[in-house]
Amino acid sequence: MSPDVSASDEAYRQRFRAWLDAHGAAAPPRHVLEPQDDAAVARLRAWQGTLADAGYVGVTWPQEMGGRGGTPAQAVIVDQELEARGIAGPFDFIGIGMVGPTIMAHGSPEQQERHLAPLLRGEEFWCQLLSEPGAGSDLANVQTRARVQDDGTWLVNGQKVWTSFAQHAAWGILLARTDPTVAKHKGLTMFAVPMDAEGVTIRPLRQITGDAEFNEVFLDDLVLAPDAVVGAPGEGWKVALTMLGFERVAVGSGLHAVRLERLVAAIASDDDARSDRGLRIRLGQVASQLLALRHTSERVVQEIAEGRVPGPDAGLIKITSVLASLDACRFAVDALGSHALVDGEWGFQVSALPGVRSAGGTEEILRNLIGERHLGLPPEPRVPAPAPKTAVQSTPAAA
Ligand SMILES: Cc1cc2nc3c(=O)[nH]c(=O)nc-3n(C[C@H](O)[C@H](O)[C@H](O)COP(=O)(O)OP(=O)(O)OC[C@H]3O[C@@H](n4cnc5c(N)ncnc54)[C@H](O)[C@@H]3O)c2cc1C
Repeated sequence: MSPDVSASDEAYRQRFRAWLDAHGAAAPPRHVLEPQDDAAVARLRAWQGTLADAGYVGVTWPQEMGGRGGTPAQAVIVDQELEARGIAGPFDFIGIGMVGPTIMAHGSPEQQERHLAPLLRGEEFWCQLLSEPGAGSDLANVQTRARVQDDGTWLVNGQKVWTSFAQHAAWGILLARTDPTVAKHKGLTMFAVPMDAEGVTIRPLRQITGDAEFNEVFLDDLVLAPDAVVGAPGEGWKVALTMLGFERVAVGSGLHAVRLERLVAAIASDDDARSDRGLRIRLGQVASQLLALRHTSERVVQEIAEGRVPGPDAGLIKITSVLASLDACRFAVDALGSHALVDGEWGFQVSALPGVRSAGGTEEILRNLIGERHLGLPPEPRVPAPAPKTAVQSTPAAA
């Protein structure tokens, strides 16, 4: 079910429509493709600022955090109206969907004061420095080391990978090992990293889509101030779990989901597809899946706004929405012909969605989590964790 839309929400919809009539001409189109150049990113950034200034970004965030304290239904209305006009939403879905809520949950008042407003306005985009070549599904295995120095600053060395949008980000949220002498989940700390700091090197990774959305990030003798810690030293895993919960919802309901209206419009514009009875039946099946998912995501938006941090069940949305989107893309290509793969939306989606199956937790890992924590099934076999290293063993001579 969608969140209830009350009379006051309907008035909100009318106000937003009127605002869009006045300001929507400046908006970039709603696109699934990555922005191709700096000018496109600048336009998306400016549009996020325009939306934020009018209170249409972070609609459900508390007012003391810079949001509007609005209802989930209002957040859904904003998305519906933008979608109906083919207008882009806020670009920095990592900042708004994942990092901002995590800073609200675990950041200090100073960090909230410093970061949340520029994040909402798109003045400072964020990226997530979590995965490493040896730590993806087993994220608690991160080897990037942060050592506290005599003056209280942290010295960071390591490598991150798959860092989406690092090339546009002003800040990154970094998971690093601060104590290798304790069990692996306990020796981690989360930091806020200025991406232009000395010691941060960003190298793009080109993907099958042709874009280089994500990057490798090298951290070489990066020095972070004591107040860069988000949460407390040693509590990085708790902070990471909060963020991953928000990420599953954002990835599942976000950018890469196939938009039903665009699918229907594409089929309707093709004479052969439109008149084929079998294709119309399949369109009905695909549409019912996408609609059911849209309502499920709206319900989760409501639960988040009511203060619930998304748990393993948020993984359900991610898995089902990616699989339904893949199904929709296969249908689009069957219906429109293989030329639909060559350029534009369907070709991009067909090559991007398999990667989204892994982003924010792979399908296999999420299925395990749902089975174990949600359905109460017997646990999967686990490889026994190695004993923690001693401090002496873990200190390489050169570091
Ligand atoms: C589009 C995209 C964007 C991303 N953006 C970011 C980002 O911005 N920041 C960031 O930090 N990371 C990002 N990632 C990384 C993502 O979180 C990892 O890809 C993911 O956690 C999986 O890690 P891995 O790639 O190392 O695969 P691995 O963990 O090596 O897994 C390889 C395969 O083994 C399977 N597997 C592993 N362990 C188990 C198990 N116990 N049981 C069953 N199967 C298992 C996995 O399901 C997978 O199929 C992104 C990834 C993608 C694809």
